[in-house]
Amino acid sequence: MKVIVVGGVAGGMTTASQLRRIDHDAEIHVFEKGPHISFANCGLPYYISREVEKRTMLVERTPEDMEKRGIHAHVAHEVLDVNTKNKTISVKALETGEIKNIRYNKLVLSPGGRSVMLNALKNVPQSFVLQQLHQLDSIEDYIETHNVNEVVVVGTGFIGIEVTENFVRRGFKVTVIQHNNDIYSPIEPDMKEFMYDTLKEQGVDLKLNSEILEVDGNKATLNTGEILNAPLIIVAVGIKPNTTFLEDTDIKLEKGYIPVNEFGQTNIKDVYAVGDAILTHYTHVPEKPVNVALAWPAHRLAFVIANHISGNTEFKHDGFLSTSILEFFGHTIAQVGLSRKDLDKDTKYIDHIQANIAGYMKNPEKIHARLYYDDDGKILRGVFVGKEGVDKRLNVLATFMRTDGNIKNLINIEVGYAPPFGTPKDLLNMIGYKAI
Ligand code: FAD
Repeated sequence: MKVIVVGGVAGGMTTASQLRRIDHDAEIHVFEKGPHISFANCGLPYYISREVEKRTMLVERTPEDMEKRGIHAHVAHEVLDVNTKNKTISVKALETGEIKNIRYNKLVLSPGGRSVMLNALKNVPQSFVLQQLHQLDSIEDYIETHNVNEVVVVGTGFIGIEVTENFVRRGFKVTVIQHNNDIYSPIEPDMKEFMYDTLKEQGVDLKLNSEILEVDGNKATLNTGEILNAPLIIVAVGIKPNTTFLEDTDIKLEKGYIPVNEFGQTNIKDVYAVGDAILTHYTHVPEKPVNVALAWPAHRLAFVIANHISGNTEFKHDGFLSTSILEFFGHTIAQVGLSRKDLDKDTKYIDHIQANIAGYMKNPEKIHARLYYDDDGKILRGVFVGKEGVDKRLNVLATFMRTDGNIKNLINIEVGYAPPFGTPKDLLNMIGYKAI
């Protein structure tokens, strides 16, 4: 059996590795258009501050490593087309320009997403996105060759926030541009007021309702008329699925995303898809579609796909809860379940603020939690913000939502208690009591 994987990072390489582990005979080829495979996208922002001390630590595997494991990884090879009738892909070797048609028995698509570059910033030499290792290299080279110590970050989503924090930690003067007044939009406005204060405390110049209209040399002009110093610009305004090469194929796309079933199959039986480019559904609200562009979902589905390819139908994908967590200057911001936009506006919720540990201990820290639920008590969405203990509550809730998920039954959950770790009635128990 010949298995071809398109995309050699999170979803693609994990599927290939899982398959190799299960199936010792399959011939596995991975085609990656970039220069690297299997690097830690999630760690890229942390190299900026040198929290990740060495760049080499971001590279988990090289093509040579994979070859030793019996996986043929071809970097600088872009897949241009898929013919599902002949079961072939057309692939271009970017260094030579040679194009070949290659047959497959099973095809796995993990092309990920591409960061959006704003029109006004295209062809601006100091303007970058940060999604791939080679883009981090370009940013670092630019900083060094131009002796930069100032940056403008455009966008305040997950990556914009991480990049901002890491440049601050590196000692850069940081300006953040947000096109409206809602920074980190996944979180409810009244739960994130501290974010605005914290940015100020950290010396970040936040420009709300602002957009860059043009850049001239190192100066950027905003829609407000203000002219900024912009010797380096990082654009983090979202991603689009990398599926243009599939547009003229029989593989179904919905708004550019690839819908998949419980085995990760597309509408074509022998073609699977995983990662940022797929469309699936929420686990707890299956009628609602969702794209979860995060690393852990790619890993979960890769396992299911690898097993299915090898003939094991025991494992099934049943959607994602879309759990996410973000570090923000000593605060943690976390959520699970429906996004703000997927939640009906009048959904009822319980708000609760409680210390992470016993109040008589040193340095208790408040956690603000909000759980939305339906008339049957099913938890639809949970949000947590605070300095300590947020990850624990998030992870307990996410696990609970995968099993029972009824808000009233939170009264019964058991979490370990001693004063340094929590309270006898944990924050999540308290929300259960409030819901009864
Ligand atoms: P990718 O890992 O992006 O891999 C897709 C690969 O496919 C790319 O290398 C691309 O070059 C290649 N490709 C595309 N088209 C073709 C083609 N036609 N031919 C050949 N190759 C092709 N997730 C979390 O859960 N937690 C985090 O903290 C987190 N932090 C992040 C920080 C940053 C800066 C970034 C960029 C992402 C972060 N993520 C995080 C998201 C996570 O990295 C992605 O969800 C994950 O990498 C998606 O895996 P993927 O395989 O779909 O795409």
